[in-house]
Amino acid sequence: MRSAGGADLHTHSAVSDGTESPADLIRAAVAAGLGTVALTDHDTTAGWGEAREEAGRHDIVLIPGLELSTLLGFRSVHMLGYLVDPQNSGLVAETERIRTARRERAQRIVDRLSRDHDIQWSDVVAQTMPGTTVGRPHIADALVALGLESDRSAAFAGLLHPRAGYVEPHYAPTPLQGVRLIRAAGGVPVLAHPGASGRDRVLPEDVVGELVEAGLFGLELYHRENTPDGRERVAELARRFDLAVTGSSDYHGTGKPNRLGEHTTAPAVVEQILELGTGTAPVGAALAG
Ligand code: AMP
Ligand code: FE
Ligand code: FE
Ligand code: ZN
Repeated sequence: MRSAGGADLHTHSAVSDGTESPADLIRAAVAAGLGTVALTDHDTTAGWGEAREEAGRHDIVLIPGLELSTLLGFRSVHMLGYLVDPQNSGLVAETERIRTARRERAQRIVDRLSRDHDIQWSDVVAQTMPGTTVGRPHIADALVALGLESDRSAAFAGLLHPRAGYVEPHYAPTPLQGVRLIRAAGGVPVLAHPGASGRDRVLPEDVVGELVEAGLFGLELYHRENTPDGRERVAELARRFDLAVTGSSDYHGTGKPNRLGEHTTAPAVVEQILELGTGTAPVGAALAG
């Protein structure tokens, strides 16, 4: 589904759980022939500066964003936020709180793992940079480096699967709080991979209705993890609430098989995001023509 000059609105750098620096990610996006790319690291905007600088050297539009962790009960719900103000005090405070909770949770997971396996917190730290949003992928990388798992995917299916008994959730705001935070920061909220767990686990209509009232802009319809029936339900909800639909790769470098540009977003939707987002300026949007 790669299209020349297409828009890929969901990617991760090593500032969260991708494997490339923000600058390398921009170079990879240019090499993949993308016309627009959004950097959406988990719960942080720390990669924006480097990405902006690199994007400015190429004929590519950069939409700075993030992927905010939220929780509905026990269920993890990811919310993309485009063009938020990175200084917005509400968003800064909440993302700091989430990152701290993630770090403490990762330490507890490693504590539990260390009772049965030869792994310590320093092994995980070695897989991160200062300020990295720590997640299970970094514990996975440590397990791989120690020879306890063969790769990230195997680790997620093995020791880091909830069934194995080591992992636990971390604090996150509700999806409604997430939409409000992103909107208050001038951003454009889009639900990430809402059909990833199948039709029956797509957010209920009343919940989506609440999010729409709070200013939800769109649903990430085209994403490799949305199942066929999940995608059908997401399309129904988009029609029901007149929401925009987006498509993205959720690229994580070598951390996941997802390839840049494997799904893309229609130019008209990209234009709407560029018009609606007021928290920060995109890079190179004038070149978009
Ligand atoms: P966490 O937020 O710490 O619970 O970890 C979940 C993150 O791990 C997601 O954001 C994904 O990017 C990543 N992830 C989930 N499953 C896999 C997998 N099978 N292989 C690699 N990364 C994964
Ligand atoms: Fe991720
Ligand atoms: Fe996600
Ligand atoms: Zn993602």
